[in-house]
Amino acid sequence: MTATATRVLVLNSGSSSLKYQLLDMHDAARLAVGLVERIGEETSRLVHTPLATGGAKRETEGAMADHAAALKAVAAELAADGLGLDSPQLAAIGHRVVHGGLKFTEPTVIDDAVLTEIERLVPVAPLHNPANITGIRTARALRPDLPQVAVFDTAFHTTMPEHAARYAIDVATADAHRIRRYGFHGTSHAYVSRKTAALLGKDPSEVNVIVLHLGNGASASAVAGGRCVDTSMGLTPLEGLVMGTRSGDIDPAVTFHLKRVAGMSEDEVDELLNKKSGLIGLCGDNDMREIRRRIDAGGEDGARAQLAFDIYIHRLKKYLGAYTAVLGRVDAVAFTAGVGENAAPVREAAIAGLAQMGMAVDADRNAVRSDEPRLISPEGSRVAVAVVPTDEELEIAQQTYALVSA
Ligand code: AMP
Repeated sequence: MTATATRVLVLNSGSSSLKYQLLDMHDAARLAVGLVERIGEETSRLVHTPLATGGAKRETEGAMADHAAALKAVAAELAADGLGLDSPQLAAIGHRVVHGGLKFTEPTVIDDAVLTEIERLVPVAPLHNPANITGIRTARALRPDLPQVAVFDTAFHTTMPEHAARYAIDVATADAHRIRRYGFHGTSHAYVSRKTAALLGKDPSEVNVIVLHLGNGASASAVAGGRCVDTSMGLTPLEGLVMGTRSGDIDPAVTFHLKRVAGMSEDEVDELLNKKSGLIGLCGDNDMREIRRRIDAGGEDGARAQLAFDIYIHRLKKYLGAYTAVLGRVDAVAFTAGVGENAAPVREAAIAGLAQMGMAVDADRNAVRSDEPRLISPEGSRVAVAVVPTDEELEIAQQTYALVSA
């Protein structure tokens, strides 16, 4: 790395998508952002926004056979803005990796041994790690000389004590198959809990925070003095809160029932619980804006949307109560991600009735729209309730840069 190398490219590879951001860590400025969708299809689409030049968004359509083709197309777009991947200013590439198991507790520079270890985790993350591995291989082939760093979604949760991380099942079976609660969205929970402490003017070590990451995927975490002590997702991202398309907590016997009585296959049950449940399963919509619109419109359809909303809120309240008990003392509740940052009715309903736990929302403060971290609890509340926008890409870039510039 040269002294002038301050840029980090952040890559988030999904099974058929590639999201990217190029940041300059000198001032944390975003130079370019973009997304390739439908990789492997005839109709792949690249949307590139060159923020550094202030240029207009550019869209390219056409077959991109694989992640290698997608990353080459991204590299060409960046090069057209004078931000090419061959630039000496590029310090590293940071990869979001979903599952790091117990081994990866920190961001890690990727070498062959690390890649092999990430591959060993595929059985516990079959939907996510293969795509992340493809992204890493592709980027390494393009710039073999450049440091590549893996930032794991699970890492922040590796501080969970055994009594929170273990399922109450036969220990030998659990250990043989690495079955335990790993948690996800860790990069977001880490970033938001730290930002929440800063909003309170405190060091993270001084505060206990419940973070509610409510996006299409959703998870809660209990963070004591900067360390995660419990989180709602488990072996996979299916456990916990009601999500856009995932059921969250469910009696595992439902799966036996679906197989034995409803005659569904393993894959059908998997798809039902991961893709056709949660809000979309309950009311046909997984977008909170649409659900609120239907509730406001009323009638029978509104009642169906209202029930989905109520189930979503009921689960949130249960986790707020549980994590208040786990933490003993709660200093702040932080709402983040698409729903948490934007849906004032969700925040209002989740906190309503929790005055005994020291939690309340001020209606005027809750109605404010802003990209900045802000308090929405009334002045003098025992527990600060806050909206704290997440920024997983910035966190990945910061962790990557800290590692390669150390
Ligand atoms: P994320 O996964 O963090 O990108 O969040 C995506 C979800 O955020 C969408 O599916 C919507 O449910 C929700 N969302 C985004 N914008 C709004 C908004 N203005 N009001 C309510 N919900 C929103």
